[in-house]
Amino acid sequence: ATIKGQAPDKGLYIPAEIPIADRELIHEIASIPDHEIAYRVIQPYVGDTIPPDQLFSIVKETLNFPIPLHPLNENIFSLELFHGPTLAFKDVGARFMSRCLGYFVKNGPTATTIGQVDRSSGRTITILVATSGDTGGAVANGFYDVEGINVVILYPSGKVSSVQEKQLTTLGKNIHALEVKGTFDDCQAMVKKAFADAELNKKLFLSSANSINVARWLPQQFYYFLAWKQWPDTSNPPVFSVPSGNFGNICAGLLAWRSGLPVSHFIAACNANDVIPLYLQTGKLAPKHAVTTLSNAMDVGDPSNFARIMEIFQHDLGSLKKQLSAESVNDKDTIEAIRKIHLDTGYTADPHGAVGWVCLEHFIQANPGRKGIFLETAHPVKFPDAVEKIIGKKIEIPIYLTGLFSKEKKALCINKNYEDLRSFLLQ
Ligand SMILES: *Cc1c(COP(=O)(O)O)cnc(C)c1O
Repeated sequence: ATIKGQAPDKGLYIPAEIPIADRELIHEIASIPDHEIAYRVIQPYVGDTIPPDQLFSIVKETLNFPIPLHPLNENIFSLELFHGPTLAFKDVGARFMSRCLGYFVKNGPTATTIGQVDRSSGRTITILVATSGDTGGAVANGFYDVEGINVVILYPSGKVSSVQEKQLTTLGKNIHALEVKGTFDDCQAMVKKAFADAELNKKLFLSSANSINVARWLPQQFYYFLAWKQWPDTSNPPVFSVPSGNFGNICAGLLAWRSGLPVSHFIAACNANDVIPLYLQTGKLAPKHAVTTLSNAMDVGDPSNFARIMEIFQHDLGSLKKQLSAESVNDKDTIEAIRKIHLDTGYTADPHGAVGWVCLEHFIQANPGRKGIFLETAHPVKFPDAVEKIIGKKIEIPIYLTGLFSKEKKALCINKNYEDLRSFLLQ
């Protein structure tokens, strides 16, 4: 499933069975080291496809940064998922997936499969991915210098932030950035064409690295277990408010809950792209074109992972609504939230986390006694223009980012034309 990405019938892979976490992992989690927690969470899904010692190293390399739980007051906590190399939560999934693929390229029957496709240049996989901002950087960083893997990233010219652009255009080696004169949807359409191009797929082993891939999706369960490890009041499990776009992250949370993690409720915190909040209200799923917002990584009009959530709840909307609610927050309220959080607590939220905070506030007001966590999915420095204006001061740049700005951008500029992409890939 990791190698193929999408199932042959164009559906999404989902575990046939959801493993149940053992009692010790839930009740004595505070005394278990982070890497061991992550290993125990993911191992049942990996089975014997990767040997234990290798899997443990993969998990260790994936989580080489902390995931702290930061209290804003006694009821609201921020789970900081932005301490990875590209300052967004996608680092965990991208790092895990790249290392699994790296293992599969070298070992086992999959190596033979890949070898059969790619006769010319030995065993290599080409990861092809379109990004609206954060995916590209995380994938570039996660796959950088991984042997046997080439990465081609398409991004819309002028539509990603300067930090985001630097993160995907300055690495070099096996990472290739294509700057497309068009929108994210154009990039996505070109990538889809490449995957459907039978001739091309005879010559190249193409794979994708978006959250459809199980190896990016499943390790996101780590966040929820690590939050539980740090949760101060185990008699009152947390509400999780998850800033959602393609719904991969929240879907991983629901899976963790299904496997036994104590969670009181989930909130899908959406921006103006409100397809799922409307669905929970009306029972009608009506995908739309995405609209542009401040929280750009959540600008998704047809969230693919929602299909997995429906599957987890066996397509029973009633039981789904007991565990999951959804709310849409506009840019004006997002800005107001960033201002208010900063004023009341001194904490600087990014636009995505702020959407999560608003929904959590509303939920706690309506359900007194509950306490919760919003996932702070990106570092505010990734969105300096918006955030600095709102809080009225500069955001301190984390030390590991300072080198980025002096690096040279290397991207090939192409038109929104599939033939241009095709000939690039064939070269
Ligand atoms: C990708 C992303 C999201 C949305 O996550 P999904 O899993 O697609 O729902 C939220 N916030 C940030 C900062 C992101 O990069």
